[in-house]
Amino acid sequence: MIGPKCKNCRRSGVKLFLKGERCFGQKCEIIKRNYPPGLRSKKRGGKISEYGKGLMEKQKVKNWYNLSESQLASYVNDILSGKSKDSNLSTGDQLIRRVESRFDNIIFRLGFATSHSEARQIVNHGHFMINGKKVDIPSYELKEGDEIEVKKESIEKPKFQEIKKSLKGFTVPLWLTLDKDNLKGKVVKLPTAEEANIPIETSLIFEFYSK
Ligand code: SF4
Repeated sequence: MIGPKCKNCRRSGVKLFLKGERCFGQKCEIIKRNYPPGLRSKKRGGKISEYGKGLMEKQKVKNWYNLSESQLASYVNDILSGKSKDSNLSTGDQLIRRVESRFDNIIFRLGFATSHSEARQIVNHGHFMINGKKVDIPSYELKEGDEIEVKKESIEKPKFQEIKKSLKGFTVPLWLTLDKDNLKGKVVKLPTAEEANIPIETSLIFEFYSK
């Protein structure tokens, strides 16, 4: 059955990986029907207004990182008002750094979860430590050098033994390292928008919020 999550991908025109393992197989809805839901034509519609483009990119980043409207607005407002800690970087790089450094995203990037929503759930359940201290806040922002590990009480659980097996052949992005045997990760650096390689035009998001 096509869920609302797949419709979000079809509206965006890109895979947003919202349904975990299913997204990696041939059953991915966007492989079969890469056109917006509700359109009879199999082609993407006509010209989209500037507002429409900004709205689409905003929805895309929200869905990709599983953010609420207010979380995204807060990141953008911080950046536009110069409150973000990396204010020397471009606005796009700042936004991507903020969202990529979120704890739930790092858990997803390390391969401990197959979607951002699953990552948020296992962080909420308190299975992880950062630099030796338990952290269960999905929006917690990590910095370079931070180390993530699964709590001793959790690592023997079937869930984490399954994760260990699923990591065979999994590759983490260049800004992270992963010890697959011990389920330990490290943030080597935070990525630029280009390095994160997310199909999102961040400039359109800032234009959207600046109107
Ligand atoms: Fe559905 Fe996942 Fe494919 Fe998106 S990437 S269309 S959520 S299966």
